[in-house]
Amino acid sequence: MQPHGAVPQKVAMPGVKHVVAVASGKGGVGKSTVATNLALALQMLGRKVGLLDADIYGPSIPIMMGISEVFDPNTTAFPLERYGLKLMSMGFWVKPETAMIWRGPMVHKYLTVFLTQIPWGELDYLVIDLPPGTGDAQLTLTQTAPLSGAVIVTTPQDVSLIDARKGLEMFRQVRVPVLGIVENMSYFVGEDGKRYNIFRHGGGTKLAQEAGVPFLGELPIDPRVAECGDTGDPIVHKYPDSPIAKSYLSLAGMVSEQIGKQTEATAELPTLQL
Ligand code: ADP
Repeated sequence: MQPHGAVPQKVAMPGVKHVVAVASGKGGVGKSTVATNLALALQMLGRKVGLLDADIYGPSIPIMMGISEVFDPNTTAFPLERYGLKLMSMGFWVKPETAMIWRGPMVHKYLTVFLTQIPWGELDYLVIDLPPGTGDAQLTLTQTAPLSGAVIVTTPQDVSLIDARKGLEMFRQVRVPVLGIVENMSYFVGEDGKRYNIFRHGGGTKLAQEAGVPFLGELPIDPRVAECGDTGDPIVHKYPDSPIAKSYLSLAGMVSEQIGKQTEATAELPTLQL
């Protein structure tokens, strides 16, 4: 399905080495949390990173990064910067209620502005927090942004996995490589040191196997994640030595490794001699 018939053109982002989308088939699985903490973890690996909140209708990056003001675009230089990350979100420009009434073409227009007219500078990675789901907005965005690949976030429950499958299918359709699947809220480690699989376990691995894409790892449930998200200081920044921050560092390592493989695979494609 395509909003207005024509397939959108991919935009060029010359200063940005890799654009990575973080996607989920449904809301509430921790996609924005993963996008934010993955961006911070990539930065901890020594990379220059930006984070673009493409969830126009429900931007959550401003709260997660502790920036609640709305700024005048005529007097403010974007992207903003927090914890060393370059940031852009519709939530910095308008109150969420305003964006809620926009129609598809407006959303596409603003996302194109975010990709092409915000001076991102030189970045190793631009992480894009996609809106949840697999509708027209997501499809248009995946066709417009010059994506190196996508990370799909799921939780272990069946409902989330069914939707994650739809996400995989969407990226296949638009020929964006899926870098892998990450299972969030996989398990909980109690004060007794024991691991509890609160929801079912292993669905993410199974889905990755079925789809023939890498499994990027499991992220535990940690109540501090929600607290950090609400107070604007993400867990990887606030508790860099916590077990979950370590899981995020390993995720960042896997993501950059997979991007490396994709880049090599593309470079090895033979050029057509006419
Ligand atoms: P989405 O972007 O998929 O809608 P969010 O990132 O907004 O989801 O996360 C939904 C809620 O779950 C938030 O309150 C967030 O803090 C919380 N959350 C996400 N991941 C975890 C986790 N691993 N442990 C505990 N809470 C989490």
